[in-house]
Amino acid sequence: MSSKPPRAVEIAIIGAGAVGAALAARLAEIGYAVLLVDARAKPCAEGRIVALSHASLAGWDLRGAAEAIGIRKVRVDAPEGSLWLRAEDLGLAELGACMALDALVEALRARAARSAQIRWPVRLVALRADEKGVVLRLQGPRGGMHEVHARLVVAADGAGAEVARMAGFRTRLGWLHNRFALAAFVRLSRPPFAAALERFGEDEALALLPWRDGEYALVWTLAPRRALLRLREDADAFCAHLAEAMGPENTAIFGAPRAVRARRGIPLALALSPPAVRGRVWLAGASAHHLHPVAAQGLNLGLRDARTIAEVLDEPWARRDPGARVVGETYAQRRVLDVAGTVAFTESLWLAHAHRSPCLRAVRALALGALRAFPDLRKSLLARLVHA
Ligand SMILES: Cc1cc2nc3c(=O)[nH]c(=O)nc-3n(C[C@H](O)[C@H](O)[C@H](O)COP(=O)(O)OP(=O)(O)OC[C@H]3O[C@@H](n4cnc5c(N)ncnc54)[C@H](O)[C@@H]3O)c2cc1C
Repeated sequence: MSSKPPRAVEIAIIGAGAVGAALAARLAEIGYAVLLVDARAKPCAEGRIVALSHASLAGWDLRGAAEAIGIRKVRVDAPEGSLWLRAEDLGLAELGACMALDALVEALRARAARSAQIRWPVRLVALRADEKGVVLRLQGPRGGMHEVHARLVVAADGAGAEVARMAGFRTRLGWLHNRFALAAFVRLSRPPFAAALERFGEDEALALLPWRDGEYALVWTLAPRRALLRLREDADAFCAHLAEAMGPENTAIFGAPRAVRARRGIPLALALSPPAVRGRVWLAGASAHHLHPVAAQGLNLGLRDARTIAEVLDEPWARRDPGARVVGETYAQRRVLDVAGTVAFTESLWLAHAHRSPCLRAVRALALGALRAFPDLRKSLLARLVHA
């Protein structure tokens, strides 16, 4: 892994997070010469637990890749009402599963290593276009520099979108949510069962994902001041505030918070780089779209970018020159609707709860009422989340 990178490859992937590593494995399997580099030797997911949809698990064969805890149903609860979304409504055993992001990335990196060339810790520090591709300047662990020529570069370098800036992507849309995700592991008075909770309050949202060792993984979206208070208070006070935020019905179903560990705060923002292609540099995953975690869509969306890239590059006409303009445009066009729809869904879900307006309250009550009253509507929402 510390040996010099090759001088030329067909496809260079920058960033071996889940998206880059999954993509590298798939592209190498379909016959491309792929180089995958990452600035970090080890994944750095800071204990994040992610919920992956049934489609992500099945499409990337992830169920056995790392430890996974299945989700059979999700309780969606708001002051205006609640409902259960169940796998059995779609004839499935599970809606998806929770996995530790760092274990998932390790497994995908190992998968990539079977057929792609991998190098880490190696950082991309500069790039420039030439007639037939892109010249990458890579910095090795001891500061040594190497140049690699690639016909196509996929930037899967995460929300920092450093590579997009280097490549001259000019549009970065979005805003700061002025909210923090407070992530932690909590122990409730009842052991986890295969159910998750999405609880929306006024100006806050919390998700509890079933995890192992009797714990749930918590992601609690809070305004900065309240996040700071919840991060600093002692465990008993934290559990009391969490119980209050969950509400009595949810503590009756899931149990009352008893212990908390590993609290950390993550600032939240929306950031998008449309279009996802500029010349021979394509963006995938969080470098193309960094979302609010409220609907657990970010990685699922990134894996769909990777799936589309692999599908486009598997077309016989793309093989001659994978970085050709027509190939890049095909990728960008095929991703527009899914990315726009997922961003709109995630943002509207968040915005509908971020304000105390009576109008929004009425809209929320109507939406929940409609989902409860019309099973087909509920099923189509669920199918979109699970099968996309
Ligand atoms: C609190 C929270 C909870 C979440 N929960 C969910 C969930 O339940 N479900 C879901 O689908 N999504 C969830 N997400 C989103 C999900 O975690 C991200 O979308 C996903 O991890 C992004 O993966 P990625 O591979 O695109 O980027 P990253 O995981 O950020 O990987 C980028 C990689 O690029 C490397 N890199 C960066 N710059 C360079 C460079 N110049 N040279 C070389 N390498 C470089 C980095 O070292 C890193 O390894 C959540 C996010 C948050 C914040």
